[in-house]
Amino acid sequence: MKMLEKKIIEEGCVLSDEVLKVDSFLNHQVDPVLMKEVGGEFASRFAGKGITKVVTLESSGIAPAVMAALILDVPLIFARKRKSLTLKDGLLTAEVYSFTKEETNTVTISEKYVNEKDTVLIIDDFLANGQAVEGLISIVEQTGALVAGIGIVIEKAFQDGGKLLREKGYRVESLARIKSLKNGRVEFSEEVLV
Ligand code: 5GP
Repeated sequence: MKMLEKKIIEEGCVLSDEVLKVDSFLNHQVDPVLMKEVGGEFASRFAGKGITKVVTLESSGIAPAVMAALILDVPLIFARKRKSLTLKDGLLTAEVYSFTKEETNTVTISEKYVNEKDTVLIIDDFLANGQAVEGLISIVEQTGALVAGIGIVIEKAFQDGGKLLREKGYRVESLARIKSLKNGRVEFSEEVLV
């Protein structure tokens, strides 16, 4: 997605060979116009797949996911990382190791909002080693719902998550695929995925 790649080049900050900071439009300040485009792109890539719910992980997945949910005209559920006083019963959980925070969180959603009748589109901001998405898949599949696919805003294709998920048979649609962050430069992948 050219608009996203342009934004990454102009505003992304390469923190190391493995980490890209995009605080100015996705991870802290949010660019709503770009998020609307991102949501529209996910919605069109998964059009006709019978999506009934969008599921993401708080907090950075929420902006792109809510835009996709709006355009698909379905609810968004965000898995929570923190314990909540008001959300206690009927919780489905998974352990997720955070690539950026280097800690394990128990992420939860309420079984009230996803069930075996649902067809779910999972969305997240970044895909690195795939732990966050694997956790979301685990929770969604515990409900008996079908995972129709995974929408990622920025996939770091030099890490293993995308390969592992695709090998397991999940459809992963990434709007920007980064081949390398070496020497402080963002290089996008030209690879065509079939
Ligand atoms: P994974 O679970 O696939 O290893 O990592 C994905 C999660 O870690 C995403 O939810 C995202 O929040 C975070 N993450 C991974 N790599 C990066 C990165 O390069 N930059 C930022 N800002 N977040 C990342």
